[in-house]
Amino acid sequence: MLVGDAAGWNDPIVGLGLSITYRDVRIVSDILASDTWDFAPYAEERAERLRRLRLAAKITSGLDAEFGEAAKARRRHHFEKTAEDPMLGAHGFAVMAGPETLPAEIFTEAHAARVLETA
Ligand SMILES: Cc1cc2nc3c(=O)[nH]c(=O)nc-3n(C[C@H](O)[C@H](O)[C@H](O)COP(=O)(O)OP(=O)(O)OC[C@H]3O[C@@H](n4cnc5c(N)ncnc54)[C@H](O)[C@@H]3O)c2cc1C
Repeated sequence: MLVGDAAGWNDPIVGLGLSITYRDVRIVSDILASDTWDFAPYAEERAERLRRLRLAAKITSGLDAEFGEAAKARRRHHFEKTAEDPMLGAHGFAVMAGPETLPAEIFTEAHAARVLETA
């Protein structure tokens, strides 16, 4: 049974390593305290949680950590567009509130391409 970084880590740009680890520990501890010791729900939840967080980190990295005039213009344009369509900034809520709090369509390559203007 793996938890924390040993179970798979995310891009540190979103600074969530400890939150991921603490949630893993809480879920696994609850299962160990149960009668069933059924870890399948943990594996399923963690895989989807990390899939969503990796996409949020990819968007964050593309928007915040690229250099050059095109990257600067895209960053500025992104904040203007987000004022009109807040869902374009939803990856930030995934980081702050947990990826399960947002609709599934936010965690698609199509959404990432729309935010990063690569579509
Ligand atoms: C540069 C950097 C910045 C980061 N910034 C943040 C941040 O701002 N916010 C955030 O939430 N997370 C951040 N993280 C991520 C966070 O530090 C990790 O996700 C978190 O520490 C993972 O916890 P862990 O217990 O899984 O692993 P670790 O903290 O790596 O603990 C594993 C422990 O196991 C020990 N160990 C390894 N092998 C053995 C062995 N064979 N026998 C005995 N002991 C062993 C290691 O010495 C270590 O003490 C950052 C990470 C890095 C590298």
